Amino acid sequence: MLLADAYIDRIDFLKYLPQTDCRECGARSCQEFLEDLKLGTKGPEDCPDIPESLYYPFQVSLNADKLLPKFPCLTAPRPGPAGLMEINVTGDDSPVLISGNNVHTQDVITSILGTTKSPFFVLFADTRGDTVDMAMILGSLTVEVINREVIRSGILERTAHQEIVIPGLAAALCSQLRQSTGWNVTVGPICVAELPLFFGERWLPPNLKGNTF
Ligand code: SF4
Repeated sequence: MLLADAYIDRIDFLKYLPQTDCRECGARSCQEFLEDLKLGTKGPEDCPDIPESLYYPFQVSLNADKLLPKFPCLTAPRPGPAGLMEINVTGDDSPVLISGNNVHTQDVITSILGTTKSPFFVLFADTRGDTVDMAMILGSLTVEVINREVIRSGILERTAHQEIVIPGLAAALCSQLRQSTGWNVTVGPICVAELPLFFGERWLPPNLKGNTF
């Protein structure tokens, strides 16, 4: 089953590989290595040019289909609470993620964030319970809706960076959001399961004794 706001098949793993096709891993290309990674016949440590700090993010993103709760895509509106959620011990340098307040989306996001001890703010804008994909179609996730939630949450006083990460599916809002707020707006991945790789070395495992899936 597809996952609400997940789109695991749209994770662009290749962009996190060196893409030099040097063959030191035994594969004929980085693309072939990626197929081996997905099959589990090779691990990120088999490529000498993947930094060790990415081993864990690769492990999480590659196994996301086993980790994430399964909900239908294009689901009917299911409103969860809107507003600010804090993951782990946040500080003024913690990243701020934006999403919609569909309960399935919230489950998927909190599940993936549960794989790291790194702190995050997640701002769930009131999309009337629409998933981000549906919210972009129905117009319930807009610059105004995000602005309202940012102001209401007080997140700007909590962070020093004034930077927010919006879902890849909401990329169309990026420039307008930048202009209207003056903030640095980064377009995140389409799939939440790509977040570990997107944040890379900042995605620290919950403990140092190894995490297996
Ligand atoms: S060793 Fe790394 S960079 Fe070289 S082909 Fe394999 S995956 Fe690509």
